[in-house]
Amino acid sequence: MTPDDLAFDRDHIWHPYTSMSKPLPVYPVTAAKGTSLYLADGRELVDGMSSWWAAIHGYNHPRLNQAMSRQIAQMSHVMFGGITHPSAVALCRQLVEMTPAGLECVFLADSGSVAVEVSMKMALQYWQARGQKRQRFLTLRNGYHGDTFAAMSVCDPQNSMHSLYQGYLPDHLFAAAPACGFGEEWQPEDIQDFSALIARHAGELAAVILEPIVQGAGGMRFYHPAYLRRVRELCDAHGVLLIADEIATGFGRTGKLFACEHAGISPDILCVGKALTGGTMTLSATLTTRHVADTISNGAAGCFMHGPTFMGNPLACAVASESLAILQENHWMQQVAAIEAQLTRDLLPLADSSDVRAARVLGSIGVIETHRPVNMAALQAFFVEQGVWIRPFGRLIYLMPPYIIRPDALKRLTDAIGAALSKPALFAAP
Ligand code: PLP
Repeated sequence: MTPDDLAFDRDHIWHPYTSMSKPLPVYPVTAAKGTSLYLADGRELVDGMSSWWAAIHGYNHPRLNQAMSRQIAQMSHVMFGGITHPSAVALCRQLVEMTPAGLECVFLADSGSVAVEVSMKMALQYWQARGQKRQRFLTLRNGYHGDTFAAMSVCDPQNSMHSLYQGYLPDHLFAAAPACGFGEEWQPEDIQDFSALIARHAGELAAVILEPIVQGAGGMRFYHPAYLRRVRELCDAHGVLLIADEIATGFGRTGKLFACEHAGISPDILCVGKALTGGTMTLSATLTTRHVADTISNGAAGCFMHGPTFMGNPLACAVASESLAILQENHWMQQVAAIEAQLTRDLLPLADSSDVRAARVLGSIGVIETHRPVNMAALQAFFVEQGVWIRPFGRLIYLMPPYIIRPDALKRLTDAIGAALSKPALFAAP
């Protein structure tokens, strides 16, 4: 990439959550392989992010590449209205087989946020079909579900975009975020606020929507499986649907194939995305029970009212199917367990630093929560100098590397975080 390309990027291209007038620096990446990103100037960075939870098998994976090449030779895309194709059927078969029990009907969508939109529309149409006006959702504080409007409306009201869009977003209900951490002793009072809200509002609730066990972008918090178990029981007791957003946690990241398995529960509706295609293409899926699907289909509309142009894109389905085939060979369990053991050994002791408020590890996720917000541009530059790609935000420096990462590469990531913690200039002024 030339200096001119970078100038064009700075002047004309939006990046995620970035100003057009005072953009943060961007680093030109020209290739990626395994757990390495290669910068245009030839530097190699160890990837600690899996491109936001997605590239679980590493980059440029030969089997994923071959699956895409095979599909391109057949067709890259064909509409899904009135047409089906082998890649969609194979993928949906795998999804029905591997997701928690009872989820039998699959809606293929384009991105995580759209899967969440679809799940919320399904819950609304379900109650409409049953002749009940239930249009509110109950969710948890500190949650994150995406950037489209319905998804935004169930993100944490404080640390999200609620204030920006006040008056435009529907008014949903927020229970206190679970306080009892994963691995701590269960405190039954943790569920009290949720329990009171669902009891008071059951008649107007379309569904509960939450991220099971790991609250991701809203704080990287890990909560107790008993909380999720109680949520399932309370939804059943009050006749409210449960939507599990496993877009970040799905496909092994937390040490179980799906985070719901930590609590031994199945939701009525499940959203998956991100790692679905092994981080190669955008694709998501919303799965429901047969009961939810039949109820919607027998309602006044006679069908579910959603159908994106690129629904069931064959190229994305083919690579997703291959990614799931790699997962089903079951090396992910040992890989994630090995990452968890190494992060426990090398990352958790960083909690002793006076700058660190908390350190936690679950599956292949490692989190350092600092007292002061990070100086994003300075810390990012420091990590690049150390030869690692770690993208912190707010008070969080976290790792979720590809499952194939080798111990020496993972050590470089944790060492870089350790080195950053001793440099006050990388954090906001006290
Ligand atoms: N839900 C959760 C739990 C997420 O973590 C994300 C993205 O970070 C989304 C939904 C939105 O997914 P996407 O960015 O693909 O729209």
